[in-house]
Parts: sequence; C-alpha cells; structure tokens
Amino acid sequence: MARSGIAAANLALRRGASVTCTDARLNASRVEGTTAVYGEHRRADFLNADLVIVSPGVPARQADVAAAIEAGVPVIGELAFAAALLAEQGVMILAVSGTNGKSTTTHLLGQLLTRAGRRTFTGGNIGAPLSDAVDQGYDCAAVEVSSYQMELCGAFHPRAAAILNLTPDHLERHGSMDNYAEAKCRMFHQMVLGDWQILPAFDARLERICDVLPGRRAYLNDWPGVRIVGAPGAGFQLTFDEIPGAAPISLEGFTLPGKHNRENVAAAVLLALCAGVPVERIDVAGLAGLPHRMETVAVRGGVTYINDSKATNIESTLVALDSAPAPFVVLLGGRGKAGADYERLAGPLRSARGAICFGEAGPAIAEGLVRAGLAPMVAAGLDDAVRLAADRARPGDTVLLSPACASFDEFSDFEHRGRHYSATVEGLPA
Ligand code: ADP
Repeated sequence: MARSGIAAANLALRRGASVTCTDARLNASRVEGTTAVYGEHRRADFLNADLVIVSPGVPARQADVAAAIEAGVPVIGELAFAAALLAEQGVMILAVSGTNGKSTTTHLLGQLLTRAGRRTFTGGNIGAPLSDAVDQGYDCAAVEVSSYQMELCGAFHPRAAAILNLTPDHLERHGSMDNYAEAKCRMFHQMVLGDWQILPAFDARLERICDVLPGRRAYLNDWPGVRIVGAPGAGFQLTFDEIPGAAPISLEGFTLPGKHNRENVAAAVLLALCAGVPVERIDVAGLAGLPHRMETVAVRGGVTYINDSKATNIESTLVALDSAPAPFVVLLGGRGKAGADYERLAGPLRSARGAICFGEAGPAIAEGLVRAGLAPMVAAGLDDAVRLAADRARPGDTVLLSPACASFDEFSDFEHRGRHYSATVEGLPA
C-alpha cells in the first residue's frame, strides 16, 4: 500500500468493487472505503478474492501471492490492472523499459506526443501510477515500465514498446540476466502483427527471446529502425529505415547533454512515429529533461554545478563522465552495491581535475581508483565533498555529482540527495 496500491484501490472502488487493502506494515497508507488488513496478511483474503492486484515491490513468489496464483485466482500487477481498463477506453499505450534512461525517454515521449496534439498521460513506474490515467479522457499514455511490473503483467498490451538497453541490475529479484531480460520482454507478449517491438541493436539475448514473440521489429541504432548520424559541430540527425512515413529529423535545438540523451530522444521519436504521429509534427527543439539527471543547478565563481544524483550505479556514472564538459571535478559515493568494481571509473577520470569520494562507499571507491593509479580525495559526507570540490575547481570547470551509488547512507532517496546538493551549492559564495 504505497503509491501504486493506493491508486489501484481508488480505481477499483470507483469501478464499484469491494476492496480489501493489505500490507505487512502496520503504518502503511489507508484508503477510505476499503477494508484494512495491516500488520499481517490473511491468506483467506487472497484465496477468496475475484482479483488480486500486487504492487511492483512485492515479488510473485511472496507466499500469499503465490498461494493465490496456485489456487487459480487472477493475480496481476497495478500497471496491468490499469492498462486493461485503459484498453477498454481506447487509450493507446506506449511503453518504455530498459536498465537506464527509462524516465528520461518516457518524459521526452510524453512531451513529443503532447506537442503533436495528443492528450497524453505520462507516468507509470515514475511519477503518477498508471491507475491515475483511467477515466481521464486521454488519447494515449507514455508509460515507464520496470521489470518488476512485468512480473505479473496480465494482458498488458502496448502499441509499441522499447527496451532501451539491458545491463546487469536487480538480479537479486530476478535471479539471472535471462530472467531479467525475459521479464522485460513480457511487454511484447500480447502484441499483434501491426505492433512494434523496439530493441537495442546487437543484443543477442533479447533477440533470442523476442524472435518468437509477435510484433514488427525496429532497432535503436540499426536498421530497420533509427540511427543517429552526424557530429556535434555538423549537427546531429535522426535517420530512419523501414519506418512508415519517417524522414530524417534534425536534432538541432535538442539541448539535453550527452550521447545517451541523443539515444533517449531517438527512442522517443521512434516510439512517437510508431504511435502514428506524422514526422512533420515531431518537434524536438527545447525538450525538457528531468531533475537530478545531468541537471545544471547553478554557476558559482565561474564553475558550473551539475546534479546527476540519479546515477546510482557505475553504468550511469560512466555515461555522465562521457558527457560532462571538461575539465571537471566529480563527486562519487553514498551506499555502494555489493561487488561493485569502481576501478571501471578510472579510465574516464584520468583527465579529470579531481575525484572526491564521500559517504559509506567513499573509502572503497578511493581504493579502486588508487589501484588504477589515480589520486582521489576522500570526504566524510556530501557537504564536505561539495566544499572540497569548490576549492579544487577553477573558473570554467564543471563540478559533477554523479555518485555511482545509492543514497541511503545519508539521504532518504536520490531526489533528497539531489535537492540537498543543489541547496548546498546555492549556499556557496557567488
Ligand atoms: P531510469 O529511469 O532507467 O533509471 P533515467 O532517465 O532516470 O533512467 O536516467 C538515469 C541515469 O542513467 C542518468 O542519470 C544517466 O546517467 C543514465 N542514462 C540515461 N539515459 C541513458 C541511456 N540511454 N543509456 C545509458 N545510460 C543512460
């Protein structure tokens, strides 16, 4: 009973269901008009239900959920529940998944569809739960989908769905890379011949799984599909092959930094085209990014401060380092993930002005960088790290918080960490 549970309960109530909400926590949110079973689960509630709706945080192997499935009770996730009702209302669903870039791409897609005149809901795994989109008169929904949500995917049926990329993550829940990939590909299970599977180029694992699933195939960075051609000075362009009606689109005016964001906008444009938006109605100029992802928060003493607090794993930070304007000082740290190999960060850091390692994982990160022959600094917490960075940076430099770690040692989540960083930076002398 967190965000998605509350939204699903309210939607079920609106549809005239008699609803029981249950959470193992005693103090979870309550929803007026429902029966509350908190601090415990009663098996009978699961076995006697006509439908069990499960939050993405709860795995399908949870004992009561598993018992309901075993007993033949329909069990689906909140996203699938909402999607089924949206389908009845003729709302077109466009789905975005992947290990990194989901939120940004979903946000870009939502803006593209809105600019093209579609009444668009944007949300899902980020922002508002999909249940909030039902009965609101939308034409389409740009939906961020996590692998957890696809564990109990019901008859989830997007018109087009993209997997942006796939690198090891969440393996404690899924058990293996194959299971993780398999969960993401459930987005394609209900597709019909005219729908679109969008995959990263050259991913043999995804290819193998998707070859036996229905839907037309388009690739990110390969044919048939979309490619990014050109260079920064010469101006980037998106080109398409075998996508009906698509002509090249200039990325001039698209201002989000880095190659990864060009990949994200390429995926968003491809999805919009698959949704039937005519190419002349695609407008990428000035599309907004999301907070805490390579977000410029302030310029102090000629130094630009960037907040990339959302980078909670090494892959994301490598992407950030690749797109950060040099020379830069980077802040790395927080709560590390078991087995993280921080030496991988050393390559792109060789030409950096400085690396400051902070928080719980600070010493381990510093050790990895020292092993690779670098000389990082170590700070206690984020505040100290910002002070050290401000000392170290010269006018014209960038200071980048892209921590490669979770935030829970000092903060409640990455957003809290990002806000704290921005506030600390604001407090530096101008
Ligand atoms: P998600 O919702 O999948 O976590 P976000 O859009 O919030 O993705 O981006 C999280 C971080 O992942 C960003 O800060 C950036 O460093 C990195 N990232 C974003 N897009 C991509 C991409 N296409 N490929 C690789 N990394 C990316």
